[in-house]
Amino acid sequence: KPMIELKNVTKIYDNGTVGLKDINLTINKGEFVMVVGLSGAGKSTLLRSINRLHDISKGDIEIDGESITKAKGKNLRLLRRSIGMIFQSFNLVKRSSVLRNVLTGRVAYYPTWKTTLNLFSKEDNQKAYEALQQVDLADKVYARADELSGGQQQRVAIARVLMQNPKIILADEPTASLDPQTSLKVMNDLKMLNEKYGMTVLANMHSVDLARQFGKRVIGIRQGQVVYDGQMKDTPEAV
Ligand code: ADP
Ligand code: ADP
Repeated sequence: KPMIELKNVTKIYDNGTVGLKDINLTINKGEFVMVVGLSGAGKSTLLRSINRLHDISKGDIEIDGESITKAKGKNLRLLRRSIGMIFQSFNLVKRSSVLRNVLTGRVAYYPTWKTTLNLFSKEDNQKAYEALQQVDLADKVYARADELSGGQQQRVAIARVLMQNPKIILADEPTASLDPQTSLKVMNDLKMLNEKYGMTVLANMHSVDLARQFGKRVIGIRQGQVVYDGQMKDTPEAV
């Protein structure tokens, strides 16, 4: 069964704007897929639909064989937990330590009072430290998140996703606010999660160059529809 499957998915926003138009898409376990397209093409709408940050208007989306469109309650929470998110703006708790930010990747597994009191287990502290080693930030464990550079903050976010240990990672323009060299570092860490941990990655990319460099498969979106789906080497200059 596919890791992500969209069946005739349409998303129309409340104001009538068409975000996605009858999309069919199959992504298998272990794929590293780049989604490219101009601003307003529907890339974020696609990601937000997959982890159900909003409801779709028509169709069905399955995660590892289970419909997230129809899921409710505990089932929906479990499906959401199997999907990690990386944002353009990092979404770290700025005043918290790097370690604590990474530990919160496990928050879904803890009762709130435990996380409030900082009662993470020894094992989880160890795991968080190892996750930071993976992204080459072991020396920043006790730094405050907002003391780090943009590239470092994004790598903390990647360590947090590693801590969450999801099946799927959805990255919404993860390098949009970073310089080219830092972007490469971040993309390489995402690639590491894909290759070393087998996580399926779907990343929105503004830069077709970066998409070509890292995506084994590139999907082009325009006006809410898939206009290209193929190998990166064949990717047209403009989609
Ligand atoms: P991209 O991520 O490719 O820039 P989006 O998915 O953000 O594109 O947007 C796709 C279309 O949906 C655009 O026309 C955009 O204006 C519209 N859109 C996005 N979010 C909303 C919203 N919350 N309400 C209404 N329209 C929206
Ligand atoms: P990288 O390329 O690894 O992302 P940079 O070259 O941007 O890192 O930053 C180099 C050093 O400067 C880092 O050790 C980082 O901690 C520090 N630094 C960068 N931005 C800030 C900031 N806004 N506040 C404090 N320290 C910063």
